[in-house]
Amino acid sequence: MAVTSVYFHPVFLEHDTGNHPEAADRLVVVKRRLEAGDLDLVWITPPRADVVDVARVHTRGHIETVERIARGGGGRLDMDTVVSPASFDAALYAVGAGIHATTRALGEGSRSFLLVRPPGHHAGRDRGMGFCLFNNIAVAAQYAIEELGVARVLIVDWDVHHGNGTQDVFYDDPRVLLCGFHLGNHYPGTGAIAESGAGDGVGYTVNLPLPHGAGDGAVRAFFSDVLVPLAQEFRPELVLISAGYDSVAGDPLGGLTLSDEAYRWMAGTIAGLCESVGAAGPVCFLEGGYDPERVASAVMRTLEGFHLPPGEISAKLSPRESRALSDLRRALEGTWGRVLR
Ligand SMILES: [Zn+2]
Repeated sequence: MAVTSVYFHPVFLEHDTGNHPEAADRLVVVKRRLEAGDLDLVWITPPRADVVDVARVHTRGHIETVERIARGGGGRLDMDTVVSPASFDAALYAVGAGIHATTRALGEGSRSFLLVRPPGHHAGRDRGMGFCLFNNIAVAAQYAIEELGVARVLIVDWDVHHGNGTQDVFYDDPRVLLCGFHLGNHYPGTGAIAESGAGDGVGYTVNLPLPHGAGDGAVRAFFSDVLVPLAQEFRPELVLISAGYDSVAGDPLGGLTLSDEAYRWMAGTIAGLCESVGAAGPVCFLEGGYDPERVASAVMRTLEGFHLPPGEISAKLSPRESRALSDLRRALEGTWGRVLR
């Protein structure tokens, strides 16, 4: 089996959120399980990102706010989003992991999983929120475009929450196709089908809000009928994944019911897509996931999916899941009708 790189830095454990679902224990449990497993992994300690690279996406004002709160002994950006004394450094190393892994994906063809925190996909240009300080995946995509000559990036988001920060950053940018599903009517309240991009970016934001309890069949249909055909037409040169594990069945902050096997299937399907279009990646960025043991199991399946056949998952769709998918297909007719299956 080919090797997968896993990024981890001890400073990620020092981002101290207190009594909070997004706590250091998540990474400790996943790391232990990966180390005890039989996957062929290379552990990489990432470099710290330069502030100039964070500023490719974020305003100087936002970066300075996070730094000031951290240096001042800690505080919060909002009710949910803690900044501890080590959080600014941890966030810079999380961004650094994304840049490093993306550079290696393009240079050496490596596939990577980033065991990072704080997570990133809720962070917008001028604010952090939803446990996120800097948008790790958005900075990596922007860095690849500006510094590595990448023309097109596909970002897949399988977190249970809508990746509103990433969406905001690339909303009018047709160089980034953002495709994700999430639980509808859930935090942060965005991610409607109608949010499909603006200006030159119309059609390059694809949101599938799912009904409560939706599971493998809905995700399978979304990937097979929408995401893969769109991506084959888009021909990304790089594929990044906002890999949230709060979409797994039983997550305390979730409401979807994905099986562990669904993550192997999704990862395998995306790895196969990378091969078929000649894209670098995938590079997986850990986002949410609040039951550490369940996260660990699903991360293991994800890494298997990078190199083993994706296996099979249920294709069963409930009437509400079917309706969500047909609503999305109808909305995509204008821009992507010719390629939808
Ligand atoms: Zn989440």
